[in-house]
Amino acid sequence: MGHKWYTNMHMDKEKALRELKEEMEKDKGLPLRTNETRLVFGEGDPNAEIYLIGEAPGFHENQQGRPFVGQAGKLLERTLETIGLNRTNVYISNVVRFRPPQNRDPLPEEIAAFQPYVDREIEIINPKVIVTLGRFSMGKFLPGELISRIHGKPREVKFKGRDATIVPMYHPAAALRAGAVMEQFKEDFKKLPQILKNLEDNNGKKEEANQMELL
Ligand code: URA
Repeated sequence: MGHKWYTNMHMDKEKALRELKEEMEKDKGLPLRTNETRLVFGEGDPNAEIYLIGEAPGFHENQQGRPFVGQAGKLLERTLETIGLNRTNVYISNVVRFRPPQNRDPLPEEIAAFQPYVDREIEIINPKVIVTLGRFSMGKFLPGELISRIHGKPREVKFKGRDATIVPMYHPAAALRAGAVMEQFKEDFKKLPQILKNLEDNNGKKEEANQMELL
């Protein structure tokens, strides 16, 4: 029974993500769609506890149609491995899904155009923790904050009426450019297992309190 329920849930999520991707493929109104760009959808475990969200595809991502497969992606993978994870047991995505020309920063209106799809992706996966990589994805959940001040610190926000935990991190490309950022990037990732554990403990306590009220 339990297994069947889990399998159904897994398949439903996979199906919902596939449909979302198909919808994006067909949406001719999306910015940055050109003859040279291809859609880079999110990938990983649809049941992941950790949802990581970066900025936009670069050269290699555009070539392969997969997120974080260039140098920044290699660093992200190596860093995930230090906490016993890899890209198949998390979910990896971006706020913008087509490569901006010359990897320029995404414009606010471009981010806004992709937002409904990003939001639906997050709702389908329903992760325990959302790790923002860099300032563009951080700005989606924590507008007006400075990454240098809040990186590595979990924040509770309301997202689509639900409680969500955001952990802002530096972008791996920024870590590759500066040694001090690299140190912080690695340190922040090491905090993730404890952050997840604390969340589980708190949820367990809330559950207990609810049960007590029922008695
Ligand atoms: N940088 C990003 O923000 N996303 C990618 O997918 C690759 C590099």
